[in-house]
Amino acid sequence: MTHPAQPKASHFINGAYVEDIAGTPIPVIYAATGEQIAKVHAATPAIVEQALATAKAAQKEWASTTGTERGRILRRAADMIRERNHELSVLETYDTGKPLQETLVADATSGADALEYFGGLAGSLTGEHIPMGEDWVYTVREALGLCVGIGAWNYPTQIACWKGAPALACGNSMVFKPSETTPLCALKVAEILHEAGLPAGLYNVIQGMGEVGGALVTDPRVDKVSLTGSVPTGKKVYAAAAANMKHVTMELGGKSPLIIFDDADIENAVGGAINGNFYSSGQVCSNGTRVFVQKGIKEKFLKRLAERTQNAILGDPMDEATSFGPMVSENQMNIVLGYIEKGKEEGARLISGGERAYMDGYFIQPTIFADVTDDMTIAREEIFGPVMAVLDFDTEEEVIERANDTEFGLSAGVFTKDLSRGHRVIGKLEAGSCFINSYNDAPVEAPFGGVKASGVGRENSKEAINYYSQVKSVYVRMGDVEAAF
Ligand code: NDP
Repeated sequence: MTHPAQPKASHFINGAYVEDIAGTPIPVIYAATGEQIAKVHAATPAIVEQALATAKAAQKEWASTTGTERGRILRRAADMIRERNHELSVLETYDTGKPLQETLVADATSGADALEYFGGLAGSLTGEHIPMGEDWVYTVREALGLCVGIGAWNYPTQIACWKGAPALACGNSMVFKPSETTPLCALKVAEILHEAGLPAGLYNVIQGMGEVGGALVTDPRVDKVSLTGSVPTGKKVYAAAAANMKHVTMELGGKSPLIIFDDADIENAVGGAINGNFYSSGQVCSNGTRVFVQKGIKEKFLKRLAERTQNAILGDPMDEATSFGPMVSENQMNIVLGYIEKGKEEGARLISGGERAYMDGYFIQPTIFADVTDDMTIAREEIFGPVMAVLDFDTEEEVIERANDTEFGLSAGVFTKDLSRGHRVIGKLEAGSCFINSYNDAPVEAPFGGVKASGVGRENSKEAINYYSQVKSVYVRMGDVEAAF
């Protein structure tokens, strides 16, 4: 019997499911059991062509509708996603292995938030009138054209919506390629957008590995590329997009600092460190994986952290009591286990976890290392798994310098009861998405994105509009034209 996760076909193009079995098969593995639950095929060159041609053809007419009309469709899709939240959350769990306890509140719902928010903004995307004496300049906010979205595997529904919603609100069309590891959820987003009334051809999903992404990024018809992925992939995609002067948004990885001063509320700081390291089994780009703890509270902090981490419930992700799921894939599990071994070898003190959890699927215990030093591999490289590195510090100046000593700059957090210190320290941290006495909140109203190697551009909030539209300025002369001859 076909598994309920099996999609009708691999791709969604021009308002319908499309199959081409000539493409390389991509098995979909349920991370909690290691079983194959579905199969899709990578896009062949013919499928890539179909998707790009249809998206190109549909865009101009879409851009000529009013923002209010566009927004209405997006908001209708948001409502439909909320109504189908349970079914979509189950699919997200099959796609990623993340526990239903999380997916019920963080994935389809976050996608719906983006569709609702950008749907609401669509009718107010206007230009400016700039008086110049008798003359004036006016500006027009125009769509970029055909946008390509490429997703990572940790938030397949959310990423498909975070890119699709602002793109469509601004009058663009999109071809979206999910990660080959999680190909299922974006197809549902496309299906729902079309059920909500989106004209055919405006939001297309095609499957494939990096080479399909590469074909999309280099196509001259594409005006913009938005990638969520790792820094090495981001550098390649950015360079390929630059060859044709395409617009980009790059949401890349991080190794973010979470700084806990000795006046912090310990329970809140421990909660922040847990949210910033173990949510989605640590597979979150903005995670605060370098936890700097001021020496005065170090042992107290570590004790509570270890105690509370024991409460994680590993198990069947479909059981709503489970609070900690597997790694997305065997490959990712092995990468993370390799980093754990490095941490042990390099002399970090293991205070919790540190092993594969021996049950079906790709589970790793939530792992905490203390006495980590700045030069250790686990303090320098993005692990993308449940591995927290706790480092000690003495002074504010010292911790700021050490926190910034990284190529990354996605997020940063500070826990302190001294709010002027909180703002002062955050002001000096080189990061795009920051938190004071909290960690990893990502409401659609707040800009999200990184500095330094962590990325270019911002998703969410009104800021995202600047990355899915461009401004035309028009000088209007009322009098005669003066010329030298
Ligand atoms: P990858 O960088 O490996 O892949 C990202 C996407 O790019 C995938 O769809 C991949 O396809 C595709 N891709 C790979 N090579 C190319 C290429 N040459 N041209 C075009 N597309 C290509 O990231 P992961 O999927 O492993 O995700 C984990 C990474 O994503 C982490 O570094 C994490 O920090 C980052 N991330 C960043 C977020 C942010 O918003 N800042 C949010 C979530 C994750 P395929 O994998 O199918 O081959």
